Amino acid sequence: MVDITVMGAGAFGLSVAWACAQRGAKVRVIDPGGVGAGASGGIVGALAPHTPENWNDKKAFQFESLIMAEEFWAEIETVGGVSSGYGRTGRVQPVMNERGLDLARAREVSAAELWQGRATLQVVPGEALSAWAPVSPTGWWIKDTLSARMHPRRACAALAAALRARGGEIVATGAPEGKVVWATGWQGLVELSGEMGRMVGNGVKGQAALLRLDRRGLPQLFADAVHVVPHSDGTVAIGSTSEREFEAPDRTDAQLEDVLARAITAVPDLAGAEVIERWAGVRPRAKSRAPMLGVHPLRKGDYIANGGFKIGFGMAPKVGQVMADMVLEGRNAIPEGFRPEASL
Ligand SMILES: Cc1cc2nc3c(=O)[nH]c(=O)nc-3n(C[C@H](O)[C@H](O)[C@H](O)COP(=O)(O)OP(=O)(O)OC[C@H]3O[C@@H](n4cnc5c(N)ncnc54)[C@H](O)[C@@H]3O)c2cc1C
Repeated sequence: MVDITVMGAGAFGLSVAWACAQRGAKVRVIDPGGVGAGASGGIVGALAPHTPENWNDKKAFQFESLIMAEEFWAEIETVGGVSSGYGRTGRVQPVMNERGLDLARAREVSAAELWQGRATLQVVPGEALSAWAPVSPTGWWIKDTLSARMHPRRACAALAAALRARGGEIVATGAPEGKVVWATGWQGLVELSGEMGRMVGNGVKGQAALLRLDRRGLPQLFADAVHVVPHSDGTVAIGSTSEREFEAPDRTDAQLEDVLARAITAVPDLAGAEVIERWAGVRPRAKSRAPMLGVHPLRKGDYIANGGFKIGFGMAPKVGQVMADMVLEGRNAIPEGFRPEASL
């Protein structure tokens, strides 16, 4: 007999299943597409913080999750024996103008307070960086030590291996048993909107590319709204588009070439690197734009974990924790803005 059934084997479903299995529950994950079939099977994997200002519950939740990530992924790798590609390699962003420089200096001060000495954000001149940096018109960059990266597709495989090592099952079909958690991504949000008769969430497509370029160990870069993420396997990911209207959820097109061109203009070191993969997926976006966690709004006795949107992997460690608190122990540590009601 299974204690918990999780519908959906993406970042959210697997993290919830893992957190429950770690507390001794017998867990089954059901996903007809298999592990990482949805948005989580991608290639970008930037785990980057919100700006350290206008602090609120949501930013605090994300901060805690980013801090938890190091141990979270290390334990998963130890238990399952599969690498997630996690590394806390930091991030560098160019300061584009004088106004941006004032803002960056204010953030340097607020990060010192809000990040509790666990990580730093500094405004630095070029000499403080390696040659791996985006073009900066001011000659200044923002460098933080909180950002990390992992490889989404591998991280899903790592989670699946660890879950199985703890006795969890992952199957394509089967009957839900025990308590049921719905972590069915954007399709789940579209389905829920249909059942509720109004829009409570939808999908936002993203396209990304993977280059053969060995910059492992160097920080991720964020410039002109493009993420440039050096992975631990000698590839660099570039992402992403953000498309509310789309026809083919899993096909790439000219919009990705535009992102690639912007990335090369911002980071000339990327020029000439071979593109080895082009990938598209659909992010689950709740109406509130925040995660949707807690009691399922329609299915009595069930739970929901959805709405990871653009930072699902960054949130996953803490999402697993608070969902296991609720499902296994009846404790509600979910910020109000993350509860389903926020989108209903
Ligand atoms: C291009 C792109 C770049 C991104 N970059 C980043 C990034 O840098 N950092 C970051 O943190 N996040 C990033 N994200 C967002 C992140 O990928 C998502 O927030 C996250 O993957 C959502 O996880 P999920 O488990 O909720 O959804 P999904 O991964 O979509 O999983 C949902 C699963 O549910 C399954 N399913 C659907 N219906 C059913 C059903 N009825 N029964 C059972 N199973 C079902 C699907 O097959 C799917 O496997 C990016 C997303 C995209 C598309």
